[in-house]
Amino acid sequence: MEKVIRAVRQYSKPLSADTMLFLRGIAEDYARVKNYVYRRYSGIASLEKLYPGYTVQGEMNATSLRTDLNLPYGYYGLAMFDALRDIKTAWSNLQSKVSELVRKNENLSDSERRYIYWVLNRDKVYAAVLNRTTTELPDNFAELDVKRLDNLICRLTRKHKFAASEAASVNYFQAMKKCFQYENGGIRFTSRIPRKRVFVPLTDGTAYNVSQITVQLAENTIELIVPVETSVKRHFDYTNKIALSLGYTVMFTASGGAEYGAELGKLLNARSERIAGKRKFRAPYYKLYKTLTTDGNAKLAETIYSNNLGAKKLGAQNLRELGGIKSYINAEINRMFESEKPAEIVIPAQSKQFTPEMSQSAKRKLSKWQIGYIRKRLEDKCASNGITLSKVSGAYTGMICAVCGDSGERVKQTFCCGTCGTRVSYPENAARNLLRKSEGTFAAPVSTVNPSAE
Ligand SMILES: [Zn+2]
Repeated sequence: MEKVIRAVRQYSKPLSADTMLFLRGIAEDYARVKNYVYRRYSGIASLEKLYPGYTVQGEMNATSLRTDLNLPYGYYGLAMFDALRDIKTAWSNLQSKVSELVRKNENLSDSERRYIYWVLNRDKVYAAVLNRTTTELPDNFAELDVKRLDNLICRLTRKHKFAASEAASVNYFQAMKKCFQYENGGIRFTSRIPRKRVFVPLTDGTAYNVSQITVQLAENTIELIVPVETSVKRHFDYTNKIALSLGYTVMFTASGGAEYGAELGKLLNARSERIAGKRKFRAPYYKLYKTLTTDGNAKLAETIYSNNLGAKKLGAQNLRELGGIKSYINAEINRMFESEKPAEIVIPAQSKQFTPEMSQSAKRKLSKWQIGYIRKRLEDKCASNGITLSKVSGAYTGMICAVCGDSGERVKQTFCCGTCGTRVSYPENAARNLLRKSEGTFAAPVSTVNPSAE
């Protein structure tokens, strides 16, 4: 049976300051190792060491970095691989970039281009060319001026070479199996002190048998991302092709007109209002707490803090509420599958992003929208249900009438076409256009319509 890796997310209960301090320390050192690898192995001279990577591993194990940091190998090793993967990705993007430039270069003959592609597709040969060491050439390149072409490759590579990034995130780390163990409704992490492990209670008691996990740090909680292998469910009755508009008020509007997650906006608003209200209520206490602390009345400050502020309490409630919203999102994705029976789903490639000219309330809304989570869950669920998820650009889909193809206008939540008289919900019209785009029957207007409107 076909298998897919699905990212399962687990959440901790609110954690003590000590536990957070420990986790943050591991995350910071993890980032230090990554930055060290970026600095040391991003250069052209290191390219040949990256494949298959044993050299780097050997060199990294020989440095004193690990003992200096006192970081257990189960974190250290993954930080190293994590950084190497980033560097390899940067190289492969650079190779595509050079290929692209070569393809567009009209001064090159077909056989010259073929030689350059041949080099770019072989990491070892590419490394040799960049470092001016000799490699054996196949006979069919014998009559080319290889030296000139090698110079071109070097020049283009140097011109577009990525910088050795120094910005590894300090909010996450990955751990190998030997550094964590599920038990008693939580998970234990290996610490820097031999035989001492740090316990993190989880909101769900599921123990997964996986070889590594990712730990994402929040203010006083953590999120675990667990790569679980699951079988693909095959739905032989899922044969439809549909498109979805993704929204804040209504989560999905399908090209057939049905809505899923119609309560999403209400849930998100209720949550953000409650958080704002709570902050307002607590503001004077914070002020008092700060004054007392600076006046040296630490004891009274502490009392006020624990009785009235309780970041822990807000954190826990917040998390519970968010958990509720997330399970609502998941349930609605399932319901959409069951009623639409899709073999393929088309969604816009990108969702609304922050722009400087956006109103304050639009920004607030956008920041509360769980769109990253929604997309991720849709992706995971499509993969584990054997459904194809396609992405097309959402440009113009909001402004054009899906019936006649002329441009219409938006009146609140309705799309109105002056040419054919269509009046339909705004997101439904956009979803129908997404579907037409994926089938190649959508024509963008020649006139100047705002392309970003979705
Ligand atoms: Zn029309």
